[in-house]
Amino acid sequence: MPATRIWLKNPLAIFTANGLDARGGLVLQDGVITEVLAHGQAPAQPCTQVFDAREHVVLPGLINTHHHFYQTLTRAWAPVVNQPLFPWLKTLYPVWARLTPEKLALASKVALAELLLSGCTTAADHHYLFPDGLENAIDVQVESVRELGMRAMLTRGSMSLGEADGGLPPQQTVQQGQVILEDSQRLIHEYHERGDGAQIQIALAPCSPFSVTPEIMEASAELANRLDVRLHTHLAETLDEEDFCLQRFGLRTVDYLDSVGWLGPRTWLAHGIHFNPDEIARLGAAGTGICHCPSSNMRLASGICPTLDLLAAG
Ligand SMILES: [Zn+2]
Repeated sequence: MPATRIWLKNPLAIFTANGLDARGGLVLQDGVITEVLAHGQAPAQPCTQVFDAREHVVLPGLINTHHHFYQTLTRAWAPVVNQPLFPWLKTLYPVWARLTPEKLALASKVALAELLLSGCTTAADHHYLFPDGLENAIDVQVESVRELGMRAMLTRGSMSLGEADGGLPPQQTVQQGQVILEDSQRLIHEYHERGDGAQIQIALAPCSPFSVTPEIMEASAELANRLDVRLHTHLAETLDEEDFCLQRFGLRTVDYLDSVGWLGPRTWLAHGIHFNPDEIARLGAAGTGICHCPSSNMRLASGICPTLDLLAAG
């Protein structure tokens, strides 16, 4: 097949590294930037397509580091709009337990379309619901991502600690450890792409301290180390979660993370609101990443992520 060469010609403005003059635009061949043109410069070879970018600003695609695509379907559901995190989750779990492959595909496409319209080209999704009939949730998401042409880090989430064992989610939403680990391994082998140009990557993502067992945290870390993929989870989002960890494990959240072998550069965490200065220093030294979401924190009114302190700690 002949190469597709597109000239993004004369943009109104363009953001490049080191203030490089790129007012002539960019040449893209099969989706990769092959030439950066200075003002008045033309492409070295003829292009199959020229896009007049005079009324456009060109910037790198934004990256979303934590999403739950499936939640686009329940985003404005009235019974939970005013609830704190735990009651919000407990009211929604039974609704989410009725998710089907068709609904998940629809939700994923809506979420991806919204992201694309906002300038986001890569997204990490945290999917941890695998009720009966939706065992292949990540496969469904892979298809949606490919259909819309985005890049995604699809995280194989999990819940293994149900209400019956002192966890938060109802039993019909949790899976056995063995099932989780086998599916995680299958997904990595089937979909995880490595190196430049990877479109789909898989990470392992037990949901949160109050919905998974320490055993699945440890086993996920071991599997991620062995197969060289990333680890993701929610941590320190609310004081209810901190209380849960103190009561159940006798540990604060970061100590718990450390105790299950997760305090390292392979891990990135969602939220990170309630860390003390010592914990922030430890997270920085370990190279653990934190992603935060101010609008979610404002909605819950349960704290703000100390982003400047986290940045300063590395
Ligand atoms: Zn989340």
